[in-house]
Amino acid sequence: MKPDYDILIIGGGLVGACVAGLLAASRPLVSLKIGVVEANPPSQPPPGDLDIRVSAISHASQAILRKAGGWQQLTPDQLSPYVDMVVWDASGQPEGKGSIHFSAATTGEPDLGHIVENRRLQWALYSAPAFRERVVLLRASLAALSFDEGQGITAATLSDGRRVTARLIVGADGAASQSRSLAGIDVSAKRYDQSAVVTHVRTERPHRQTAWQRFLPAGPLAFLPLADGRSSIVWSTGHTYADQLVAMPTEDFERALQVASDGVFGAIKLAAPRARFPLQLMHAREYCRPGFVLVGDAAHAVHPLAGQGVNLGFADCAALAETLAEALQASPAGWADRRWLRRYERWRKRDNLLALTVVDGIGRLFSNDDPRLRFFRKAGLDVLDRSALAKRLLISEASG
Ligand SMILES: Cc1cc2nc3c(=O)[nH]c(=O)nc-3n(C[C@H](O)[C@H](O)[C@H](O)COP(=O)(O)OP(=O)(O)OC[C@H]3O[C@@H](n4cnc5c(N)ncnc54)[C@H](O)[C@@H]3O)c2cc1C
Repeated sequence: MKPDYDILIIGGGLVGACVAGLLAASRPLVSLKIGVVEANPPSQPPPGDLDIRVSAISHASQAILRKAGGWQQLTPDQLSPYVDMVVWDASGQPEGKGSIHFSAATTGEPDLGHIVENRRLQWALYSAPAFRERVVLLRASLAALSFDEGQGITAATLSDGRRVTARLIVGADGAASQSRSLAGIDVSAKRYDQSAVVTHVRTERPHRQTAWQRFLPAGPLAFLPLADGRSSIVWSTGHTYADQLVAMPTEDFERALQVASDGVFGAIKLAAPRARFPLQLMHAREYCRPGFVLVGDAAHAVHPLAGQGVNLGFADCAALAETLAEALQASPAGWADRRWLRRYERWRKRDNLLALTVVDGIGRLFSNDDPRLRFFRKAGLDVLDRSALAKRLLISEASG
């Protein structure tokens, strides 16, 4: 029996759209029929409309997004390069002791990465030529999956009652992935006692194309530079305080933010609505089952303090596209066999686990007020800041 699709991707968020674009743009995979199931596909964001969700996109991710044909769709005014990064402990100073500085000038690159609005990036991926020409969009949600291992075909039932079949289902439906549950894949997860409050602000002192992060005992506060001079805020803090920050009058919020940023940016004016996102650490115990594979937040969720989440997801997309291209060339009849999916799993699970562990460790080291740890943090940041080699290695790791 011939399935309706060779590859059916559940979820067309940033990661689902990226994997669809990569598969569609891959020459060796040109014979495969690709579908994306997404109930809320993006529409073109109107000019001047600013999404409060932004992501720091690494150089490695940019190369992946270019391959998918999405990066080229973004115009220069939609890209905010950051050329420096300053991280400091609450007990230190951004320009003095207890801080670490990273600069693109030491890397030979023009910048360390770009801040991009999520909605614009998602739209750019949907606008890529290969996506538009080769990907079929099914506007619905996944309701059920039924695996037929003997036939090597999976049937997906959608929220509108349609039933579609595929050789391979890719679960890209985010951290609360329903496809992952339906495939019977368990996760190990820890809910942080923190939510991230996000918004945009205007600051009296310019951001100088620098990504700033101050580690407070309750969680990190980041100011990410936007092209129009505003800064995007990601303020991780206890759930109750996060609720208060979202609900409090504008002037109180601006004052609280000025205090939390130690006055480094001068007066602060709120420039967008506020929203909060509860944070968690989550890792799927397996990335694949026969006829099924996970990518992005459906496989792993990480604290935003290092701006790694979607970058890890894009790396999953690249690894999966490369593995499937090799599989189709090596075994045209068995390209979706478990051994190929397991190869992808071994590749990505190890890298993601390492990133999740390091980011979680940094969060635990900094999000507390223990005086002994405070001393070691400050001393550690000073030592690191003086080591050009260590900083180059850290930049290279963060760039993917
Ligand atoms: C405050 C904050 C700041 C962040 N900053 C950064 C950063 O700077 N850099 C970075 O790399 N990462 C960052 N991240 C992480 C990043 O946002 C996520 O890793 C990324 O959005 C995950 O993308 P995804 O496509 O895997 O999942 P999602 O974005 O969750 O997308 C899932 C998609 O699946 C669809 N879907 C869900 N259920 C179904 C279903 N049943 N059927 C069909 N479709 C379904 C949804 O509609 C959605 O479109 C941040 C996260 C937070 C919370």
